[in-house]
Amino acid sequence: MAKELLSGNEAIARGAYEAGVTFASAYPGTPSTEILENVVRYKEVIHAQWGVNEKTAMEEALGASFTGARALVAMKHVGLNVAADPLFSASYIGATGALIIISADDPGMHSSQNEQDNRHYAIAAKIPVLEPSDSQEAKDMVIEAVKISESFDTPVLIRMTTRTSHSRSAVELGERLEPPVPEYKSDFFKRNLLPGNARRRHVLVEERQKKLAVFSDDFKYNTVIKGKNRIGVVASGVSYQYGREVFPDASFLKLAMPYPFPVNLFKRFAAKLDTIYILEENDPIIETFARLVEPGKKIIGKDVFPLLGEMSQDVVQASLKLKDLTPRFDVNTIPRRPPSLCTGCPHTALFYNLGLQKVNSRGDIGCYTLGALPPLSAMDTCVDMGASITVLLGIEKALAKAEKTIKQVAVIGDSTFFHSGITGLIDVIYNKGQSTVVILDNSITAMTGHQENPGSGTTLMGETAPRIDIVKLVRDGLGLEHTYEVDGYDVKAIKELLKREILRPEPSVIVVRRPCILLYRKAKWSPMRVDGEACTSCKVCLRLGCPAISSDADGKAFINEALCSGCGVCAQVCAFKAISFVDDKGLHSSSITLESYLSGDRS
Ligand code: SF4
Ligand code: SF4
Repeated sequence: MAKELLSGNEAIARGAYEAGVTFASAYPGTPSTEILENVVRYKEVIHAQWGVNEKTAMEEALGASFTGARALVAMKHVGLNVAADPLFSASYIGATGALIIISADDPGMHSSQNEQDNRHYAIAAKIPVLEPSDSQEAKDMVIEAVKISESFDTPVLIRMTTRTSHSRSAVELGERLEPPVPEYKSDFFKRNLLPGNARRRHVLVEERQKKLAVFSDDFKYNTVIKGKNRIGVVASGVSYQYGREVFPDASFLKLAMPYPFPVNLFKRFAAKLDTIYILEENDPIIETFARLVEPGKKIIGKDVFPLLGEMSQDVVQASLKLKDLTPRFDVNTIPRRPPSLCTGCPHTALFYNLGLQKVNSRGDIGCYTLGALPPLSAMDTCVDMGASITVLLGIEKALAKAEKTIKQVAVIGDSTFFHSGITGLIDVIYNKGQSTVVILDNSITAMTGHQENPGSGTTLMGETAPRIDIVKLVRDGLGLEHTYEVDGYDVKAIKELLKREILRPEPSVIVVRRPCILLYRKAKWSPMRVDGEACTSCKVCLRLGCPAISSDADGKAFINEALCSGCGVCAQVCAFKAISFVDDKGLHSSSITLESYLSGDRS
């Protein structure tokens, strides 16, 4: 069989293909995004789609499973919080066709607001969880998960982590299993969770748990590797790879299915060992079971290894005091490079204006969250997807009770608005909120790499689709009269709209529109330049935080022409007309509107 070098996410997609999956859904989120982007390579045989959020994606996959089709749904770890409601129902309902749930956890929080360990969800929902340790296992375990799902009538959770999702290793490819022919047959007692039915289904879930615990003891990927001494290591996921390096002579129990915990397998493994190390990322889940099963054994786990962050060979060695990870130089001497919005980002002018007007703003999850950092410092809260609008309303109402008010807005991106912001806006309108919601509309899910959303006019399958216009949706659909749109690069228009709407004692929505600058990566931008004679060193343009602007040795503003995209925002804020185009030969981003982008101008 052919071999290919695949990332874990690519391997999951390949596994879906080989396992005979015919339906796949997801909401993009790092580190899971590339799963669906690769599933769509098999669009001849798999229907793949973005849901507006993880809950809809999960329910759509469950619906597909009702027909006997094999379904896969993928999300990042916090997405499973959004999808938790259907997850728990799916556990009771079971799987007619296989239902495979991929959760990509993010130990170390490379791109997330927490580092929750989603194996807890498997335990709480009473479904099995698999943890691949490399790309080959990621692919193979999708196929195993399909078999488990259909044999035990259960959804199966596959827990990936950042490293297993993004690391590449060789994968042996296989043939595709013949998928079942989908057919919808009604099954009222199984799929309608009226309390009377749910009580009966719960009994079946508990019986299933017992059978799965027996299965876990013999699961072929729960492997024992005999060592040369009386030290044992129990490891799951990528931690297994690190453990092999650090403990070359130890015996290993590689737990690919940590839950239900293989009690008898662990007992047999532990019997001849003096000390057992448990290596797992995030929480002590395997460790807790191990300590319960063998309370008298010397078990070393999170008392030594860290609960926080990613595991690595170095971390394991440092935890055991085999290695000193203290840097050999003073890290404070390294110049700081705080993350910032991109040069020419169409959100910069909005954040600059919020700062000018001293508006307190509720932020949300997206690339624009970087506007919270200096010098823009435009948001002082960011909670979870969609929370900008609801947190805004809560603050407003609590203050109103004490007859107080503050100038505040909620700032949310278009994809996050579709995900879970729209329900918050309905709350604002229904509960007679008075604040302003700013929707940053670039008609794409920018943060995770430009995935399509309902405002894009295209689908993951590459087909054209109805484009949901946020202005029309809010004004005509929700009936919010004070709904306005403004150009993201028009500093003056944004300023005037904000000034007016913040004072309005009614709810309002401002849709700030421009395509993401990174969609034009290959464009030859015509940059701007500072006229040193005209520049007074007032440094107002530096407050934009554009990475292309700095000040030179004389304190004058300086624009790095290699970075500048010619958006023209800095020229608008300069009161001394010191900034202008170098020439007009190339393309400047200010000439690209959302309309021209959506109509296909992507030079
Ligand atoms: S805003 Fe204009 S005058 Fe002020 S530093 Fe920038 S370029 Fe110079
Ligand atoms: S025109 Fe000004 S604000 Fe826009 S990218 Fe260039 S330097 Fe930055």
